[in-house]
Amino acid sequence: METDASSRPVTIVTGASRGIGAAIAERLAADGHDLVLTFRDRVADADAVARRCEASGARVRFLQVDLADLDAAATIVPTAIAEFATITGLVNNAGITGRIGGFLDASIEESELLFRVNVLAPIVLTRAAIAHMATDRGGAGGSIVNISSGAATTGSPNTYIPYSMSKAALNALTTGTAKEFGPVGVRVNTVSPGTTRTEIHAAAGRPNAPEERAPRIPMRRPGEPHEIAGAVAYLFSPDASYTSGADIRVAGGN
Ligand code: NAP
Repeated sequence: METDASSRPVTIVTGASRGIGAAIAERLAADGHDLVLTFRDRVADADAVARRCEASGARVRFLQVDLADLDAAATIVPTAIAEFATITGLVNNAGITGRIGGFLDASIEESELLFRVNVLAPIVLTRAAIAHMATDRGGAGGSIVNISSGAATTGSPNTYIPYSMSKAALNALTTGTAKEFGPVGVRVNTVSPGTTRTEIHAAAGRPNAPEERAPRIPMRRPGEPHEIAGAVAYLFSPDASYTSGADIRVAGGN
């Protein structure tokens, strides 16, 4: 169905060139969103995602931004507003784990990098998005979804404790901002995936982690990116109009 461009939701999704972010972008495109998407390196993957979203009728703008550079991260929301006149949604999806290993082996530089990407960049983006959306600042309200992890509540011993800490911080971003900005029309929620089949595990040094963990997952299999995207789509749907501060765990029973 053709819709007036000015009435379409406009949603930013970080880390949308592959994995869970790509699935979220494609699902939101199918649900009628226009999209501002970000990636870091993978130009060809980003192009392919953009084509698939456009095939669903979405207007798409892909931005190459290293979220570890917080000044660069700060340009995303203003660029999106300049291009689409408004934004109605933000998905803080991009994230890194660091190498899988013992706590004593993780360098502080690696922990600093993952706190920049997983925590500080979402703070930068969330502040800019809320400043635009809040009804007491002339905005029209909006919805923010933070992609956390089941790791936020397990501590991830022998695996990646700093990553777990970064996701616990992201959960607190949801809880606090949902309360502070609920009165001004901004809903904020968390989706917490369990082990999901993406390339994040190869980057962490364990490409087979999804299969290795499957016996410890009640449903005996890892998740697929589209199964995470479904929860995000719900949070942007009219069915979620009273849902804020929630954490939807999509983890096969864990
Ligand atoms: P992924 O497959 O590794 O994809 C990561 C995405 O983030 C890519 O689009 C990548 O861009 C982008 N990215 C990475 N570092 C970046 C940086 N410094 N600046 C800008 N963009 C950057 O990851 P995923 O598995 O889909 O994970 C998505 C989210 O889900 C993360 O927050 C992760 O913590 C969370 N999560 C994943 C799992 C899982 O098992 N997969 C479980 C729980 C939670 P390029 O393609 O250009 O590199």
